[in-house]
Amino acid sequence: MIAFNIPPYVGKEQEYIKQAIETNKKLSGDGVFTKKCNAWFEERFNTPKALLTTSCTHALEMSAILAEINPGDEVITPSYSFVSTVNAFVLRGAKIVFVDIRPDTMNIDENLIEDAITEKTKAIVPVHYAGVACEMDKIMDIARRHNLYVIEDAAQGVMATYKGQALGTIGDIGCYSFHETKNYTMGEGGAILIQNKELVERAEIIREKGTDRSKFLRGQIDKYSWVDIGSSYLPSELNAAYLFAQLEEAETINNNRLKTWNTYYNELKGLEDEGLIELPYIPEHCTHNAHMFYIKCKDLQARTDLINYLKMNSISAVFHYVPLHSSVAGLQYARFHGADRFTTSESERLVRLPLYYGLEESNVRYILTTIKGFYE
Ligand SMILES: *Cc1c(COP(=O)(O)O)cnc(C)c1O
Repeated sequence: MIAFNIPPYVGKEQEYIKQAIETNKKLSGDGVFTKKCNAWFEERFNTPKALLTTSCTHALEMSAILAEINPGDEVITPSYSFVSTVNAFVLRGAKIVFVDIRPDTMNIDENLIEDAITEKTKAIVPVHYAGVACEMDKIMDIARRHNLYVIEDAAQGVMATYKGQALGTIGDIGCYSFHETKNYTMGEGGAILIQNKELVERAEIIREKGTDRSKFLRGQIDKYSWVDIGSSYLPSELNAAYLFAQLEEAETINNNRLKTWNTYYNELKGLEDEGLIELPYIPEHCTHNAHMFYIKCKDLQARTDLINYLKMNSISAVFHYVPLHSSVAGLQYARFHGADRFTTSESERLVRLPLYYGLEESNVRYILTTIKGFYE
């Protein structure tokens, strides 16, 4: 069976974990490796503050606290996303307001956002699906005019850009995931990137159980205490050591994924030209990170048939999000503003092909031959 995903492993991970144990003798959070990862993001992506977190889910939860989401507030986001995008805000008592996606990128339709704004709206949460950017200029303009926070769910967007800017560094806050299914991993983990400097100090406090321990460790105060609400959002050094090995090889991982992505794209173009499938669309001003390669079949039935055919031929291909608004919790905690023209219908057609660092070229060829065989 060709796996859908294998977690990336570039070689130095074990050495760095050993260093954390034997040399640094530091396993809890915010040691040498965590600091190296934070600095890597800040320098590389030109952002004032990056902090590793225990997951992207937790980075989103921190964002909801930082944006002072209170019961009754509304948050605008697409329904075509992962549960954590909305749960983080629902936990603070927010009502989720979904708007439709664009069929070309599967991202939130920026032209539908403004109409969904009410006096209760507090934040817009764009999700950069498959590492392809949302239309951030338009979204930032709307947010500034209505005095709203923009929190980017850039879980899939590490190393991708919008008009040259790293995803996750454009809104007030950006959230990354280093889950084992993402481009760079630490098993479970994430990061919060904070562009809005007014939020930095509070972010450090929330992440450290509501204490000013970060200031204390920097020698800025002589004791630390409980100053705010918070939780334990800092990951272990062991996880940070694993991630740092991957960040050092970020280009290698990115190029390897892009190579596979481009092979899929070029080889399947013929089927698209024949009108049998649709391929992903990358707007000209976006560079993507090959987080995902998906194709869209004619309809739900065609997708089911293709997935089964691939499975019979030992290839694991999978569909993706079931729109959140139609789920049990979605009915309770959210509403859909406007018509669902594309969210449900486009999501039903989408199937993701195996794509991971180190996927062998021979396997890519076999997958392509099998897909072409299905359409003959
Ligand atoms: C993976 C993912 C998350 C959650 O990331 P975790 O690190 O597993 O918490 C959130 N949003 C999106 C869009 C994701 O793809």
